[in-house]
Amino acid sequence: MLQLFIPLGFLGFIYREIREALTNIERLFGLLEAPVKVADAPDAAELQVSGGEVEFDSVSHAYHAERPILQGVSLRVPAGHTLAIVGPSGAGKSTLARLLFRFYDVSEGAIRIDGQDIRHVTQDSLRRAIGVVPQDTVLFNDTIGYNIAYGRPDASPEEIWQALRMAQLEEFVRRLPDGLDTQVGERGLKLSGGEKQRIAIARVLLKDPPILILDEATSSLDTHAERLILDALNLVSRKRTTLAIAHRLSTIVHAERILVLDQGQVVEQGSHAQLLAAQGAYARLWADQQRESVEDDSPTGT
Ligand code: ADP
Ligand code: MG
Repeated sequence: MLQLFIPLGFLGFIYREIREALTNIERLFGLLEAPVKVADAPDAAELQVSGGEVEFDSVSHAYHAERPILQGVSLRVPAGHTLAIVGPSGAGKSTLARLLFRFYDVSEGAIRIDGQDIRHVTQDSLRRAIGVVPQDTVLFNDTIGYNIAYGRPDASPEEIWQALRMAQLEEFVRRLPDGLDTQVGERGLKLSGGEKQRIAIARVLLKDPPILILDEATSSLDTHAERLILDALNLVSRKRTTLAIAHRLSTIVHAERILVLDQGQVVEQGSHAQLLAAQGAYARLWADQQRESVEDDSPTGT
């Protein structure tokens, strides 16, 4: 009997660990309900990153066949450049990020990195090349140190502290009784949305990938914290290919190129000045947000 119980208990333990890891990874992109559909091609090669150019070539995508989300999206981010992506909620911005990370395969068209179709490379090599600060960060039920070093397990404590400093989290972690060894997540210290977002930012700073996806990376932060972190993110994105999905337009006014997505289609592209002058979708979004921020700042505002 004993012999039977030990292996079963052990299997149960392994099963729980694996399920928890999968749950966390899937939750990163809000995919909890979605089956994992992608698999490595039998002859999948390692992704070879030369500069990290990202190209979407007439990409269409539907999570369910009857409801198309992206329709013929083409975009190109030259190696080392930044493309800001804006648009109303539900436009398909996060879907672009999920497709680039290959949580799903595109329904039509192709996504290429330095000319290689991402369906033809190993998922492991693809995901090593890309760092994501997702819209909603879910942490592993583990220590703060683990949560930051995940993606670069060989990082030294000095490197972890450096990443924490850049993500404006150093003070916060220093004040915790167990520092980097503090348990977080469901069974540990509960963190605010902004703190979790800064952990995700520290993680990406430490991973230091050639391609960055920032999906409303500072949306849970107040304006002051946002400004500090944008400086850090601007620093890392400078030499990296970056897709910066922005919620507040004020964070991307200086982007060299801005793409406006609406109902799954690219409706405009240009610099802030060009898009304002065009008096189209971007100009309307901008006017709406200017009005909102005035209302927010007004002392008598409700
Ligand atoms: P955005 O980031 O611009 O707000 P999303 O890319 O998250 O937009 O979503 C675009 C559309 O796709 C929305 O209508 C959303 O409801 C739908 N959608 C997002 N994720 C899924 C999913 N996993 N399954 C089905 N529909 C989804
Ligand atoms: Mg989104």
